Amino acid sequence: MNTSPKLPITDEHMHIDPRAKGLKAVKEFQNAGGTHIILVTKPTWTIGVEVTKPEDYRIVFDETIDLARQINETGVRAFPVLGVHPAEITKLTERMELERAVELMRSGLEIAAKYVEEGLAVGLKSGRPHYPVSEEIWDASNAIMEHGFMLAKEQDCAIQLHTESVEEPELIDITQRAKGTGIRLNKVVKHYAPPLVNVCEKLGIFPGVLAGKGAIEQALEEGTRFMMETDYIDDPERPGAVLGPKTIPRRTLKLVEEHGEEPFWKIHKENVEEVYEVEIEL
Ligand SMILES: [Zn+2]
Repeated sequence: MNTSPKLPITDEHMHIDPRAKGLKAVKEFQNAGGTHIILVTKPTWTIGVEVTKPEDYRIVFDETIDLARQINETGVRAFPVLGVHPAEITKLTERMELERAVELMRSGLEIAAKYVEEGLAVGLKSGRPHYPVSEEIWDASNAIMEHGFMLAKEQDCAIQLHTESVEEPELIDITQRAKGTGIRLNKVVKHYAPPLVNVCEKLGIFPGVLAGKGAIEQALEEGTRFMMETDYIDDPERPGAVLGPKTIPRRTLKLVEEHGEEPFWKIHKENVEEVYEVEIEL
């Protein structure tokens, strides 16, 4: 393996943790045929950062950027996406008032947007909790997500959304909130998306389809306007909690046998270039 790749293969949402498998996971991705990674910040609490002031987010963002630099040295190209995980609201409100938590999360996103402005990152990450929360927390989370849309609009950059599980009604709600800020909708990425390619296309937002069993086959039935991701968390305490680093290259190369390479140039290169305004070159 590890011959020079002929096809770009992008995992559109991966975490790498130097305390866990770290670059070894990148090597596995590369040896399986992977070429590009959208590298997303790990949630603060998973790397032992207890946020008490906005500047604390820099610790997490700087780690992501440093990791992307190390990954680039392996020959895999990594593009950082920085932001504040929506579940942070629950972690923060265990130790502070909601108002203060919201302020911190908004500030974290503002710092992330500055990194984008400086060319250090290619997008933001926000969203809303994936588990049931009080109406108060839900409203606050939506307000934070909308602040993220506004910041992404200012930078004209992508924003990945971690949310509750979605069907069409939830995607419509998210799209309407995005529209209210004037952000270009192809910059709004539903991360961990089901294969609702047509619905997303109709709404204008972009799905990062989780490459679980059968999902990509389903997505391909609706077209090629999507990206592929594992949400690999690189957490040794939760092995098997998510898809492994070889998943996207393996699934892609398997599907090429049936569908040919063409759809995958769109999925792994053109779509990623359109959404993140990066160059996907081999
Ligand atoms: Zn993730």
